[in-house]
Amino acid sequence: MKVSPDIFENTEVAYASKSNAELRKAQALFKLFGSPLLVNTGSAIANLALKLRLPVAPLFKYTVYNHFSGGETFKECKRTIAKLAESNIGVLLNYGVELKETDEDFDTALQKNIEAIDFSHKNKYIRAICVKPTSYGRFALFEKVQNKETLSAEETAQYERVRQRFDKVCQYAHDNEVVLYMDAEESWIQDALDELTNEMMYKYNRKKCYVYNTIQLYRWDRLNYLKTEVAEAKVQGYLYGAKLVRGAYMEKERERAKELGYKSPIHTNKKGVDTDFDEAVEFCLQNKESVYVCVASHNEHSNLLAMQQMDALHIARDTPHVVFSQLYGMGDNITFNLAKQGFNTAKYLPYGPVKDVIPYLIRRAQENTSVSGQTGRELTLINREIKRRG
Ligand SMILES: Cc1cc2nc3c(=O)[nH]c(=O)nc-3n(C[C@H](O)[C@H](O)[C@H](O)COP(=O)(O)OP(=O)(O)OC[C@H]3O[C@@H](n4cnc5c(N)ncnc54)[C@H](O)[C@@H]3O)c2cc1C
Repeated sequence: MKVSPDIFENTEVAYASKSNAELRKAQALFKLFGSPLLVNTGSAIANLALKLRLPVAPLFKYTVYNHFSGGETFKECKRTIAKLAESNIGVLLNYGVELKETDEDFDTALQKNIEAIDFSHKNKYIRAICVKPTSYGRFALFEKVQNKETLSAEETAQYERVRQRFDKVCQYAHDNEVVLYMDAEESWIQDALDELTNEMMYKYNRKKCYVYNTIQLYRWDRLNYLKTEVAEAKVQGYLYGAKLVRGAYMEKERERAKELGYKSPIHTNKKGVDTDFDEAVEFCLQNKESVYVCVASHNEHSNLLAMQQMDALHIARDTPHVVFSQLYGMGDNITFNLAKQGFNTAKYLPYGPVKDVIPYLIRRAQENTSVSGQTGRELTLINREIKRRG
């Protein structure tokens, strides 16, 4: 069946798995996000409470946490995953703990990812485990490596341990047939991250695609980078995995470039980003025999275009080469309608202790209040569905 251009307007499909009470709760949350003052004050209080180790976790758990996260444990996640699976939607599991600094923290993150691989093994609805590379090593060390600064003996040993963590998780994923997506981060460490991820793709993507890198198309150099890397993978005989995103650190990138006086790595306007994103999707689909792609976006036009292109190129909608993904708690009109039409879909699902996931939740709340954010759209759709149900 041909994809209808207004497919994402179908709120009946989008919210079929939500009870009236759940829908009302989501409505209240997005209404709250509509107030930047409330969100900013709430975020500041939450940050302070975290620093002072105040017991704010329960307050978060029953509000934002449950809306945007899978649960604190695998047992809790199982329920969320099973519910999504009823609509043929998978998940990308992400241990949502951020900004750690010691070897002990990095080893814990690795151990958590290994446990997630064990949990995912043979569950076809867990499409991938997402790994934040800086959960395996110090940000400043990646920066030094990228700048080709001389490392001390201790730093050299530290970086070797980072490489070993990458290798361990990728090998374990490969041996257990679980897919890993490496998240993309700031441009001033991304070359170092790319190098490690490419090494892993070379090693483990020989027969199937187990390791994916993330390509941020808000950077004006990334479309070319993607094409060059895919060509190199073809020459070297491995499969290239690409999670395509626009990018999450735009303001930070621009500010740093301005402050240090170099050309911003970010497109000067949104149109440039959109064009590159859609071209990157098309490029991956056209090179499907050697590329596996995750279209990770809430942009309705980009998702629609990707669906139409797949049909035009006669790519089976459920091919393992293509997955569409949106964050859990957002973009249900996209995910559920895509799944209904037989496309592979997955929700990006963070999990972990409430207090550790709070920084992720604050980012989601702030992102949803920004002018370009999704709140207006989410709220309109939820309101429409509540009205439709009468
Ligand atoms: C499953 C999933 C995984 C993700 N993983 C990562 C990751 O690993 N690393 C990462 O960085 N991000 C990641 N993101 C976030 C992503 O990069 C975007 O921030 C977010 O999805 C919004 O972009 P969009 O395509 O959904 O929607 P849109 O609303 O169409 O685009 C918004 C994005 O466009 C860009 N933009 C907006 N205005 C301008 C402007 N004036 N000039 C230039 N660019 C502009 C920014 O990137 C902004 O975030 C992920 C998102 C999803 C859904």
